[in-house]
Amino acid sequence: MQGFTEITVDGEWETFSYTGNIDENSEEILTPYLKSLGQNVIINFGNVDKINSCGVLHWINFIGALCASRQVRYEKCTPDIIQQINMIPRFTNTAEIVSVYARYVCAHCEHEQMYLFVKGKNLPLAAQDGVSEVACSKCRKITSFQEVEEDYFAFVDR
Ligand SMILES: [Zn+2]
Repeated sequence: MQGFTEITVDGEWETFSYTGNIDENSEEILTPYLKSLGQNVIINFGNVDKINSCGVLHWINFIGALCASRQVRYEKCTPDIIQQINMIPRFTNTAEIVSVYARYVCAHCEHEQMYLFVKGKNLPLAAQDGVSEVACSKCRKITSFQEVEEDYFAFVDR
């Protein structure tokens, strides 16, 4: 899906929600915001669909310019975004990562769910701390995280 954006304002913070694909079309979408966004920006990744290598480059440029003069937070980072965050430090720049999704698949009923980890609440303080088990939203049995926790949460150790 072609990307588009939405801005919501809450006090001093503007939430910048990007929906759809981050790809070769993203530079055109992102660049105008370097002028219009305020000093405190929350990037919401919750509605991002796919991200390709071209999109990664455009994002690195955008966030580099944004972080140069603003306070930036990342929220609702999806597994695809976490992969970029862990591989490429410049994908995050100086942005603070405040919440991330993790995918859980239930071993009992195969139900798949996304679970949100929030800094200061349930996000681990160190990658090796790992995360607690989560109850399946369908059958209520305990389900465990599918990824290697130390790798998935590697960014918290930076
Ligand atoms: Zn289940």
